[in-house]
Parts: sequence; structure tokens; C-alpha cells
Amino acid sequence: MNKKKPLIALTPYFNTERDEPYMRPAFINAVRHAGGNPVVLPIDQPEEDLQQIADTFDGILLTGGPDVHPFLFGEETQAHCGNVCLRRDKTELALIRLAMAAGKPILGVCRGAQILNISQGGDIYQDIPSQFPQEFPVCHDQPFYYDIPAHHVTVEPGTLLEKIAGKSTLEVNSMHHQAVRKLAPGLIASGHAPGGLIECVEKPDYPFLIGVQWHPEYLWQNDEAAVRLFGAFVEAAAAQMK
Ligand code: MN
Repeated sequence: MNKKKPLIALTPYFNTERDEPYMRPAFINAVRHAGGNPVVLPIDQPEEDLQQIADTFDGILLTGGPDVHPFLFGEETQAHCGNVCLRRDKTELALIRLAMAAGKPILGVCRGAQILNISQGGDIYQDIPSQFPQEFPVCHDQPFYYDIPAHHVTVEPGTLLEKIAGKSTLEVNSMHHQAVRKLAPGLIASGHAPGGLIECVEKPDYPFLIGVQWHPEYLWQNDEAAVRLFGAFVEAAAAQMK
């Protein structure tokens, strides 16, 4: 008898210039390598279809992409905010709400971590360089390829991230100009970049909800912590199938 793999829903990237959703193969490969069955969702869906998706899929993976619209966290658009896709923002916020009501495991990557924080009432820096100045700025927009780490992340003891990664410091890549600012009620910050920027959020009273600011989908081939992150997510998705 064939054992069913956990069905993982991936929200798509969005190219704002071409008005096109797309998916990066790195995400598909990372989920497959972890034992999941990846399926890419459309960019927007009516609520009743999202309800079915939240009920049917075993895990939700919120991928990276354009900036989140500032109205969704109660701000005017700042001069250095990037392009947005409001349709995608609204779909993802509804999907997070429905998936959480169903207790489904959720992994957020980059923008995915930011929108998880916004969905729970937190906000983000619209632009790190102009809103989070540092005396010795850490590079969050690396000029080299994505499989090379750019900065360290300090892992907070006793967190899900520590349990998954099994170490107190991670080497991560960094391709983001936005980041979590005010942490949402109910979430904790479990990883920080040098200088204090939040790089990982999680929800301790929920079965499995974690958002990372870096891109583990480009690291897993050379990084055990990234393998373990996707592995823990797919394992949590498998656990709720029973
Ligand atoms: Mn970073």
C-alpha cells in the first residue's frame, strides 16, 4: 500500500512587473527532499476555496516575494517601500487565518515570516536601511549568490528554532529590505541578526508555526539546520494527518 505524503500548499511568488505568479524550484526541491508533496496555489482564491485548501492540505508554506502593503499594518506607504501585490497579501492573510483555525502547520520564509507577524497584529520595517540604521550595518541584501551565508543568527534558548536547529548560532543568507519590527502578541522572536533585527518568529502555543527571515530553500544542500527546518515542518504536517 502506498503511504501518502504530507500535502504541502505553497503560496506563489509574484512578479509585479509582469503581473505573473511564479514559483522558485528551490522551494519545490526542498519540500520534496523533506518528504512532502508540494503543490503551488494560485495567487488569489475566493474564501470558500481557501477554506477547502486549509482543510485539505497538511501544511502551508508561505514563500518570499514583493513587499506587504503598508495599509495592512496601519501605515502610509513610506518612500522606500517596494512594489506590492495586494491580491496576494489578502489571500495569504485569509489563508493564514483559516489554516490556523484548522491547526495546520505553517512555515513562513522571508516575506512569509513578515506576513505571519502582520496577520497576528504585528508590523514590519518598510525599509531596513532607512528605518533601522546601525553604526555597523549588517548586510541584509547580499551581493553574492543565495547558497552562501551572509550573516549570523543568534538562536534563543528553549525555542522551537533551537529544538529544530540544535545549535545556538546559525549562518544564514540574507535577501530582504523589510523585516519584523513590532512583534505580534502571541508570537516570540527566536532568532536575531547581529544588531538585534528579528530573523525568526514562532508561536509557542500553536502546534507548528515558524517564520524565518532567511531563505533555507537555497541553503539545505550544504546546511544541516536548513534540512532540519524543512524536515520538522513536513514531519509536523505528517503528524496532523493521523
Ligand atoms: Mn538578514
